[in-house]
Amino acid sequence: MNVLDLFFGDLAAFLSQAIIVVIVALMFVISLRLFLDRRKKAYMSMTISLIFVGIQYLSHLYFKINDMETSLTDYILNMLNIISFVLINMGIYQLYNRTNRKQYIFFYGLIVMGFVVSMLHFIVPQLYDGNPHQVRLLQAIGFDLYVFVLIFICFYAIPPYISQQFKYQLALTIYFTYQSVRLVNIYIYDHAQHVLTFAENLLPIIFYFLLFMLLFDRVVELMQAIYNSSITDGLTRLYNRKFFYNRVTQHVQRHLPVYVLFSDIDNFKKLNDTQGHQMGDNVLKQVAQIMKDEAEECGIAGRYGGEEMVVLVSDPSVKMDTFAERIRSRIEKETIVTASIGYSKYKNGLSAEELIKQADEAMYRAKTTGKNKVVKFS
Ligand code: GH3
Ligand code: MG
Ligand code: MG
Repeated sequence: MNVLDLFFGDLAAFLSQAIIVVIVALMFVISLRLFLDRRKKAYMSMTISLIFVGIQYLSHLYFKINDMETSLTDYILNMLNIISFVLINMGIYQLYNRTNRKQYIFFYGLIVMGFVVSMLHFIVPQLYDGNPHQVRLLQAIGFDLYVFVLIFICFYAIPPYISQQFKYQLALTIYFTYQSVRLVNIYIYDHAQHVLTFAENLLPIIFYFLLFMLLFDRVVELMQAIYNSSITDGLTRLYNRKFFYNRVTQHVQRHLPVYVLFSDIDNFKKLNDTQGHQMGDNVLKQVAQIMKDEAEECGIAGRYGGEEMVVLVSDPSVKMDTFAERIRSRIEKETIVTASIGYSKYKNGLSAEELIKQADEAMYRAKTTGKNKVVKFS
């Protein structure tokens, strides 16, 4: 055996396909797991498409090992290739989008077109009566050209709907290169160009590796989104009470010089009653945005309860009275409501709960002494 066989010979093709089977198996495990956990159609398509890719590569190996490469097995492999290519791209689309009937018709239509094109396989031998080798090459030409059509369609139709456009288009470009190299090597050089054969074996590995990365990154993205929604409030996008409380606890335990600011919108019930809950929600969002803006550089903002918002100020250089007054006056100017604000400074021995309670008490004093003002806990 020659070492070069590893890169150019039959062994190279075998090695390349084995690597692809491993990558596809990994993708399969991830998407199956996602599907079992979440029962979303997206992961089902991905899972099924990977089964097709797996069948395609395993039957290729099987035909090769058993010397069964005939015109019929060519047909089966080419058809499997079309089906798995369409399904895998549909799977990627569905990782980011819900699919309605129109899109199913689109993707399944591409597969049906594949069947139509595949009829060339049966027509060619009747029209052309050349040597068997040439006939076999010509039989596949419909498939080969159709793959280019699919690449172009996917390249332009899918990226606007997914978030890793660059990676996806790079993967398709690799596949396009692979397909071109393969055809040049078959039709022009009759498999004789070693460099091209090497590329033929290498490029699909890169293609599937990129698809793997796409799936993997999507999983990380989804987990990140789940984490984010577990620590934030859905309406205002501020941190939720639990997260805020934990953050205050962390700072207090390390005896850091922090402030807690507590704000409560004035006469909010009346606003809801007179202008509707929707209006109330919009105002909450506006106030939350002001809190977020102001807290951005010196701490974090949270939603403590209904219309109660809080800020943990962890930057000791912040002048707290100015800071709280700026929030109050921005709310007054930029929204149709006002807010009463209290704040308190951490002192040794205080728990997170006590510190927040002090700020709440100061806010309460602002409420009882006229509202729309700032009171420092003392
Ligand atoms: P005060 O000036 O004394 O604070 O008066 P208030 O009306 O703001 O006081 P109160 O705390 O009794 O009312 C809070 C109201 O906030 C009650 C509830 O209808 C409303 N609220 C709480 N959460 C939401 C929300 O998510 N959306 C809307 N639209 N309203 C909410
Ligand atoms: Mg209120
Ligand atoms: Mg309240």
